[in-house]
Amino acid sequence: MVSTQTTCPYCGVGCGVVAAPQTDGSVLISGDTTHPANFGRLCSKGSALGETLALDNRLLAPKVAGQTVDWDTALDKVAIEFSRIIEEHGPDAVAMYVSGQILTEDYYVANKFMKGFVGTGNIDTNSRLCMSSAVAAHKRAFGSDTVPGNYEDLEQCDLLILTGSNLAWCHPVLFQRISAAKEARPEMKIVVIDPRKTATCDMADLHLSLKPGSDAFLFNGLLHYLKDSDALDWEYIEAHVEGFAATLNMAKKTAGSVPKTAASCELAESDVADFFRLFATTDKVVTVFSQGVNQSATGTDKCNAIINCHLATGRIAQPGMGPFSITGQPNAMGGRETGGLANQLAAHMEITNPSHHDKVSRFWQTNRLTQTAGAKAVDMFADIASGKIKAIWIIATNPVVSLPDASAVKRALQQCEFVVVSDCEAQTDCTEFADVLLPALAWGEKDGTVTNSERRISRQKSFLSAPGGARADWQIIADVACRMGHETAFSFDSAYEVFREHAALSGFENAGSRDFDISGLSAIAKSDYDALSPIQWPVTGDNKVGTARMFSDHHFYTDSGKARMLPITPELPQLLDPENFPLILNTGRVRDQWHTMTRTGRVARLGTHTPEPVIEMHPRDAARWQCADKSLAVLESPHGQFIGRVQCNEGQQPGSVFVPIHWNGQYAADAVVAALVPAITDPLSGQPQAKQAAVSIRDF
Ligand code: SF4
Repeated sequence: MVSTQTTCPYCGVGCGVVAAPQTDGSVLISGDTTHPANFGRLCSKGSALGETLALDNRLLAPKVAGQTVDWDTALDKVAIEFSRIIEEHGPDAVAMYVSGQILTEDYYVANKFMKGFVGTGNIDTNSRLCMSSAVAAHKRAFGSDTVPGNYEDLEQCDLLILTGSNLAWCHPVLFQRISAAKEARPEMKIVVIDPRKTATCDMADLHLSLKPGSDAFLFNGLLHYLKDSDALDWEYIEAHVEGFAATLNMAKKTAGSVPKTAASCELAESDVADFFRLFATTDKVVTVFSQGVNQSATGTDKCNAIINCHLATGRIAQPGMGPFSITGQPNAMGGRETGGLANQLAAHMEITNPSHHDKVSRFWQTNRLTQTAGAKAVDMFADIASGKIKAIWIIATNPVVSLPDASAVKRALQQCEFVVVSDCEAQTDCTEFADVLLPALAWGEKDGTVTNSERRISRQKSFLSAPGGARADWQIIADVACRMGHETAFSFDSAYEVFREHAALSGFENAGSRDFDISGLSAIAKSDYDALSPIQWPVTGDNKVGTARMFSDHHFYTDSGKARMLPITPELPQLLDPENFPLILNTGRVRDQWHTMTRTGRVARLGTHTPEPVIEMHPRDAARWQCADKSLAVLESPHGQFIGRVQCNEGQQPGSVFVPIHWNGQYAADAVVAALVPAITDPLSGQPQAKQAAVSIRDF
């Protein structure tokens, strides 16, 4: 049977996958040897994709108030209720909460509908939980949300710093690529910065087990050291950077010498000195940062503290050099391209920029385009709780399991006037709150594009027919928009048509003024779209082959054209009531599960690695709190409780515990770790502080 080249629906590496349906109905999965993200490699999750395609628990027909209905009835209901609430309370009384799992075409239509035609900024995404601090930092430093480099840089550098990233489990194929690079060039040095000793540390030359949340002290200290050891690139700073002097002064004041930095981060002076010396004496340096940095009340500052060190040494935009934000989700970057965050417009334009507002209004031919940013994820559910938002449409995500203070999210949905849920699954923690349930196409059935962490757009293609009445997310949203009177703007016939419009908007009156430009694909033929090879944006009329590296011309998208260094005042995490809740909870992923396990949880062999919710803790803490290894224990915070099995681990820093994020309320009522996490967010990015929460522990 015919094989299909598509992409993996899990992490931000964005691996190419070949799916080959077999005559017995099964689908053989292999890595796509031609895809530049993975060259044929797959991890445990990707290679098990063929075992996730059964239709058990699939939502196959629309439901209204729990009763199966036809599509017209369901779509009419959504359109009528949304229209009524907008009429009675204004456009900001409705909201949409989407996901880094949906395709760029779905994102584009969702954002166009909410911002352009409903006229509200109230569309946000679970990508807020993943990388919004990196987005805010990119914008502050570069004037644009741009990841400068690519995966090859991670292999070509001589010093790779992995901070706040358990790459071995969270981005396994990238870890495999780096491991191979280090094997080929053992002189390549790897430094892992993480309070936990994770599987990623297996390939590290140096592991800095820093005090949780102290990252900005470390990078401020590094900047100060680079100045003192005459390792700055004065020529680059002079020509291409602004804000240097103030940033350096702040670094000196707040971090200072090696001993002072080591004390702030609770690290050995010799380790800090080794790290600083390595950075100062190595030209080709890449710093990868991920959720461990982003998911913090000061996440944006931490990201900028990292970027500062690269700008001050000119180590950016050249092979093997640069700061590199790696995203958790398969299409976190595609969502940003379409304006999927509540504070963005489309095509990397700004809501509050009058020129951008005018351009998008004219391109979409609308006079309703929102003038103000909407509520970011955590605020959105707070606004539902307060009654400000009266209707929400949740697409392809499970906020009852993933948002902080998950019990409050549940209460908000319970009291919300009108809840629409689009999902592939018939039953999740979220579907029980739905007034209207809409069946969406799943991976293998849907068609469109995604963008991975290195700006590479790839096709995700269907190789299975739509089961039951399931439909594409873009189509469902467009059908509702048409019913609300916007037929002309939403008369799309295919994902291909949506993509062409998205590409055209990216180049609309752009002329190099914005980083995201794929106008070179705006007139793509259907056959070329179907056969699109993975390509890195920008892709313009003059540059049809894509762009491996940004800022090589030293032009940044700030007013001055220079990159900005930002003075950073490091702060330790805000912990609620640490007297009564003396342990620091860190949350993250395990190797073989994805998000809330709706797909990976179907595969028995993926469940063997970590079969149940665990609480990793240092044996000394286990003894202190009288929790025996392998016994059940209860974690409590001011917000809720979690029950898991104690797993003693010498690599866990004393004073902190680690719990995976994956288990949901369908598994057990007390298995949702997000119930423990307070709704503390970074005021700049809105990203929740999911890596540091105060908890207590007791034997079950
Ligand atoms: Fe999928 Fe990520 Fe694994 Fe690649 S590394 S196969 S994208 S989960």
